[in-house]
Amino acid sequence: MDCGLFGVYGHPEAANLTYLGLYALQHRGQESAGIVSSDGKGLYCHKEMGLVAEIFDQEVLKRLPGSSAIGHVRYSTTGSSHLKNAQPFVFDYSRGGVAIAHNGNLTNAGLLRRQLEREGAIFQSTMDTEVIIHLFARVSEGLHTVDRLIAALSEVEGSYSLLLLTEKELIAARDPYGFRPLVLGKLKKGYVVSSETCALDLIGADFIREIEPGEVLLLSGDGPHSFFPFPRVKPKFCIFEFIYFARPDSFIFGHTVYQVRRQLGVQLAEEHPAEADLVLPTPDSGFPAAVGFAHSSGLPLELGIIRNHYVGRTFIEPRDSIRHFGVRIKLNAVREVIEGKRAVVVDDSIVRGTTVKKNMHMIRSAGAREIHVRISSPPIISPCFYGIDTPTKEELIAANLSIEEIREFLQVNSLGYLSLEGLKKCVAGHEDKFCYACFTGDYPVSPPAERMQLEFFIKEV
Ligand code: 5GP
Ligand code: SF4
Ligand code: MG
Repeated sequence: MDCGLFGVYGHPEAANLTYLGLYALQHRGQESAGIVSSDGKGLYCHKEMGLVAEIFDQEVLKRLPGSSAIGHVRYSTTGSSHLKNAQPFVFDYSRGGVAIAHNGNLTNAGLLRRQLEREGAIFQSTMDTEVIIHLFARVSEGLHTVDRLIAALSEVEGSYSLLLLTEKELIAARDPYGFRPLVLGKLKKGYVVSSETCALDLIGADFIREIEPGEVLLLSGDGPHSFFPFPRVKPKFCIFEFIYFARPDSFIFGHTVYQVRRQLGVQLAEEHPAEADLVLPTPDSGFPAAVGFAHSSGLPLELGIIRNHYVGRTFIEPRDSIRHFGVRIKLNAVREVIEGKRAVVVDDSIVRGTTVKKNMHMIRSAGAREIHVRISSPPIISPCFYGIDTPTKEELIAANLSIEEIREFLQVNSLGYLSLEGLKKCVAGHEDKFCYACFTGDYPVSPPAERMQLEFFIKEV
């Protein structure tokens, strides 16, 4: 699932820093947030539905003592929208307390869960993440935490960047393909782990390096120790983090997101030039590519679409009715900029097509003479099984309509998508280290044999 992770080890302000880190990662999930801290003797947890700033205040943070903490912001793909699915999860097992926070999607979770249930396991949530905890607790007595985690992780497939906290240790792990990002930083004598570097910047931590695909990093009293217990495979970083998901000021997968995103726009202008008067970015996700497009094409960049910043990302709303309503309250067109003009409208992606269609209607109503839509990613034709919340194939407009049909649907003069080759050029030199499955249907890890529809097993309350 789309999520953000943040953790601190060895700093007296662990929970406060985690709060700030999560604040910088809010774009990765707005449904729920949680922090678990440790003071060496016990674990302390607070999590709620809603936004980081609404959930935590000084009173709450005071109840999260200790020098280590992990935090999580969530938007659901696996498991329904419910507090019991909010992370981190905290459990007691034979050796004490353990908390876990996970970004990604386990493709064999349904299978593992059914096995575990047959053996008597009782699950508290509908989350794939909980499977890891059961596997972790089941491992034979006497093993060190890190070995338990490794034993558990060697049974799961799919994507995970995860943080695990016990009374005395923090462990960060990234799946062998490295689908989701995870970075390591340092603040004074403490260590910080985060989904993205933008959160390190906020708290003034130094970026050390990215946690590597397949790495299990143990932070304990003896300092950091890295393990590479899994067979090495070619990395498959999620290219969609560059297209849409990560914050442009973050450095992940060896690049600054803004630079890649801007280059997507440069490439897009080369592939699909337009006879037009101006370039309009679609706020906010279309901005960097629009800058690249305008620069490359020589057309002026104009802020003809204005966003109300006090509305969350519409796409993040789980309910359809709210999503549609959200589009109308989020963006507005500036008539004086657009009227009578031939406009290139740049956006990062089209998923269902509903948001873009409404935007086009708005721009037409503001008097645009021509509209040329340019999308800085290839058509999305396949769902993601590795942690980005794309809908099923039936709902993906490009899986069902040709580009010409989509142009008609949008009622615009032209429509151009970035090519897959063009996308790869923007990460040239290591283009084979990325996953492109939502654009190709070519999955690096087999999709789940069945979707983990665990709601069938658990009655929602
Ligand atoms: P659509 O027109 O397909 O309804 O929505 C397209 C818009 O959704 C684009 O502006 C894009 O920025 C945004 N978008 C694309 N992928 C995602 C995603 O995975 N999550 C969220 N929240 N928004 C997305
Ligand atoms: Fe990312 Fe697409 Fe691969 Fe999912 S399928 S990991 S969204 S590139
Ligand atoms: Mg957008």
